Amino acid sequence: MCLNYEAPLFIMSQKLMDVLMLGRCSHEFSWPRRAANGEYYQVCLLCASAYQYDWKTMRRGSRVDEADGG
Ligand SMILES: [Zn+2]
Repeated sequence: MCLNYEAPLFIMSQKLMDVLMLGRCSHEFSWPRRAANGEYYQVCLLCASAYQYDWKTMRRGSRVDEADGG
């Protein structure tokens, strides 16, 4: 008997489902990055949302939308 489970993929999907369907993301952020305009931002490794980051206060700001134009 040979079961061909794709467990890692399933777990990944579960996590993505939580983020996409329920809007539930625990937000695991990378080290702050520097944008082209000199501003710093952090990107969530799970949902890929970008947030402003203020080095002076060492705090994360509001979400950054990466939409073109403005
Ligand atoms: Zn997130």
